[in-house]
Amino acid sequence: MVVSEYWNAKNETRPREELEALQLIKLRRLCEWAYATTPFHQRRFDAAGFKPEQLKTLDDLRRIPFMTREEWMESLLEKPIFGEMLATDPVNAVRYHLTSGTTGRTPIRVLDGMKDWEWIAEMWCYGLWGFGVRPVDIVYFAFGYGSFIGFWGAHYACEKIGALVIPGGAQATEARIKQIVEMGVTTVASTPTYALTMWQKAREMGIDLASESKVNKLILSGEPAGSIPAAKRQLEEAWGAKAGDTAGMTEVGTIMIFECSHQPGGTHIIEDHYIEETINPDTEEPVGYGELAERVVTSFGRGFVPVIRYRTKDMVLKVPASVCTCGRTWDIYDGGIRGRWDDMKLIRGTNVYPRAVESIIREYNCIDEFQIYIWRKDDLVDEITIKLEVKPDQESEWPDLQHKLPRDLANAHEGLRFNIERMEFGTLPRFELKAKRLIDARPVAQYS
Ligand SMILES: [Zn+2]
Repeated sequence: MVVSEYWNAKNETRPREELEALQLIKLRRLCEWAYATTPFHQRRFDAAGFKPEQLKTLDDLRRIPFMTREEWMESLLEKPIFGEMLATDPVNAVRYHLTSGTTGRTPIRVLDGMKDWEWIAEMWCYGLWGFGVRPVDIVYFAFGYGSFIGFWGAHYACEKIGALVIPGGAQATEARIKQIVEMGVTTVASTPTYALTMWQKAREMGIDLASESKVNKLILSGEPAGSIPAAKRQLEEAWGAKAGDTAGMTEVGTIMIFECSHQPGGTHIIEDHYIEETINPDTEEPVGYGELAERVVTSFGRGFVPVIRYRTKDMVLKVPASVCTCGRTWDIYDGGIRGRWDDMKLIRGTNVYPRAVESIIREYNCIDEFQIYIWRKDDLVDEITIKLEVKPDQESEWPDLQHKLPRDLANAHEGLRFNIERMEFGTLPRFELKAKRLIDARPVAQYS
């Protein structure tokens, strides 16, 4: 029997013209339904003078007002705890989730019904199957299974595919590694940072995961590193496995993009269930292929919370589907999600993006952990310091590294001076979920 490399061949290879016709039909239905059911959208559509029947071509999409996280938050605070976002009676819900707690931010809270969960799992099926997960696989979720939605959908998707699922749950890293080896796990799902942590811990335990485990696929999510070439290479070598990037968000409940097994250096957009627009974050004008842009998402699947033209602040660079050899007609975000527009830091007149800095640091295999530390010298001059730890068995690299790294960083940042500070091994924080490697210690008041 020939096994298709697509989860849904018809949808994944639909000619562009047909795909867009389908998107238009779905978009109109979505807007009609949101207008009829959701006070939040009613109010905003009315204020913008937009009516769903104005959607005659896909370009008419631009008549719909953008939706922002700030508006969503306002609605949650005004009418706790879900705001006026719900399209359905809460009694129909079966699950409650919220965004992962980035410090100081009020989380977005969402409800989902059974139908939503079917869809959430289906989106992950596209991605997992597309990267090569099959019924014979044994999939380990190194994931806490808490109120953060994370890999919940991927868990159900694996069941739907027919793979054997091992829910890692709240366990110490050592226990997880033992299970992975003992159970003959073939696929591990985790954040890139935690995949690296597991490998380091295994090494301390005297286990070489590349040769002693059966893992041949890593499913990554939650951080941009899954598409940073050097970080990915490091993970693939460490585990002796292929690493596939995915990205989702609590606001839509599941993934929007995934890397296929052909690994084109980016992630396909699931275009039959989403419209992903790319815009200039300042002018809000559409941006074409090959240019950095902000992604704006419209989701067709979630029944409880209609997400329409939502400004994500994620930085992306869209390229045509033909860049990949897999035959999917879905466009690609080259390099996955490259960071966030609001992560940009201004240091002495130069723009610095943490992800760009990380991708240079990751080129140095001898660096174990690092932190980007921004501070102000004598209350006057902004400074950027890379605090780093060298791997214990690669100390001899330090003299070279000390000179090369600041030079590479400066070359990529209009000559900006980067300070390098070597830290004792094991002193920088390690992360299990979303890594926070940027500290901006400058006085805040001067920036508000
Ligand atoms: Zn592909």
